[in-house]
Amino acid sequence: MTLTGKNILGFNHSAKGSKTFFAINPFTQENLNTPHYEATQEEVGQAVVLAEVAFKSYKEKNNVDKAIFLETIAEEILALGNALIQTGQLETGLPEGRLTEERVRTMNQLKLFATLLREGSWVDARIDFADPNREPFPKPDTRQMQRPLGPVGVFGASNFPLAFSVAGGDTASALAAGCPVVVKGHPAHPGTSELVGVAITKAAKKCNMPGGIFSLVQGISVDVGLSIVEHPLIKAIGFTGSYQGGKALFDVANKREEPIPVYAEMGSSNPVFILPEILKQKKETIAEGLKNSILLGVGQFCTNPGLIITNATEEGQVFEKLLASEIKKSPSATMLTPNIQNAYNKGLEKLKANPSVDLLSKGIANDGATQGITELLKTTGKDFLSNKDLEKENFGPSSILINTEDSSEMLAIAKSLKGHLTATIHGTEDDLKNHLELVKILERKVGRLLLNQYPTGVEVCQSMVHGGPFPATTDSQMTSVGAGAITRFTRPVCFQNFPEFLLPAELKTPNPLGISRIENAKRI
Ligand code: NAP
Repeated sequence: MTLTGKNILGFNHSAKGSKTFFAINPFTQENLNTPHYEATQEEVGQAVVLAEVAFKSYKEKNNVDKAIFLETIAEEILALGNALIQTGQLETGLPEGRLTEERVRTMNQLKLFATLLREGSWVDARIDFADPNREPFPKPDTRQMQRPLGPVGVFGASNFPLAFSVAGGDTASALAAGCPVVVKGHPAHPGTSELVGVAITKAAKKCNMPGGIFSLVQGISVDVGLSIVEHPLIKAIGFTGSYQGGKALFDVANKREEPIPVYAEMGSSNPVFILPEILKQKKETIAEGLKNSILLGVGQFCTNPGLIITNATEEGQVFEKLLASEIKKSPSATMLTPNIQNAYNKGLEKLKANPSVDLLSKGIANDGATQGITELLKTTGKDFLSNKDLEKENFGPSSILINTEDSSEMLAIAKSLKGHLTATIHGTEDDLKNHLELVKILERKVGRLLLNQYPTGVEVCQSMVHGGPFPATTDSQMTSVGAGAITRFTRPVCFQNFPEFLLPAELKTPNPLGISRIENAKRI
């Protein structure tokens, strides 16, 4: 398929603006061939109005029709074949294997929500039957379920051009919830975005969905995204990206005449605590595991382990040497964009300019453009506690080793932490029994707590939480990965004293869909 560089507004392509931009090949830092048209404010408005029109009919579609639509999107993405992988490679520098895996993950996300829809209980139906004889007042018939919010704006991230982008988890969960979607594609991979956008449009046509169910607007200036957030018909935002971007959009959404929820999943430095006993027993394994986790995706993961907290004992010093030598042997690799590489290098310079931070070890610099060279930095527990900037994410393959004096300093660090996506503890059973307080503190700081594993790699499943307290996200009650992501785009509605014919199928008395419900306070 030849790229058009145009925006996708429902079933039409559109290029009304005069501004164009190009994707950059990170291997050469040269522009790729296709000019992509930045969407005008008018085009964004058109996309949102189409979404509002589509909402009226889409929300009435039954769960099976929506499930088939999601499954068809997955099939159409696969049908793009190698063109998708090759375009993704040229625009992001990610290897073929990684993109192929990410395509599988993206399809599985869509299928997970299709399964959820077919099963049906996700709407959380609750019925309290009327009791006209209740004293002192009769009890009314009230029935509650989750209903879709309306058109949703989705912002794709640079580092997952498929799984957190045009047909990623935000889009899949919003469509599953019954909400049309207007996607702002990430400017680092506009061709990949267009291909996936066309696949969604094809699926929509095949499944007789309304045209405005999906639109893709592109651009390099923040105006495009802001126009989505500010549009009065948009009812929620799904965002994956940096703290700066997420917080800026959150603030804009809160200043609207009608504020709307912004589910911004942002960066995190994912602290890893290594306890004394396990350090004695498994230091080689942990050093190698951590090195692999730091380097995965050239460190460009929101779950990258950016802080490693251990004790400055003799064992700790041996571990430090082991990890430093692992890092020293690690070759650099191509980062996603020159801008991301610059921000990573500037972040490292700033960290190293801090007198309490030392460079412990640096990886091998390969030839080639846009290389991300891994670095391991070092500080003490005391210095970390008095330098709050050290907790911030530096997006790329670096990590700070924090040597604490004892377990109480480790606890003080845990207590001082802000919200993160994950925290990891490496410990034996005895370690854990001796550090129960640490587990309790960390539970309040993160969305996912890991034991003796590594934070990179997020399983897409029913029980996953990919979220966490601010500043990891702007809403700690939600997850952006896994089945729970769907309720970000719904709200509970109570139908009181409704006749059967007016009730949604999920709430009709005979339970025609056979879903699990709460009836008169009992789970049926
Ligand atoms: P990004 O630069 O924030 O970009 C994300 C999107 O937001 C882009 O479409 C960008 O458009 C837009 N944007 C950014 N600032 C904006 C502003 N002030 N106003 C309007 N739109 C704005 O982030 P990224 O480079 O894609 O990704 C790297 C970051 O994402 C890292 O911090 C990483 O940890 C995080 N991340 C988090 C998760 C998670 O699930 N929590 C997953 C993956 C990545 P423009 O480029 O046009 O401005």
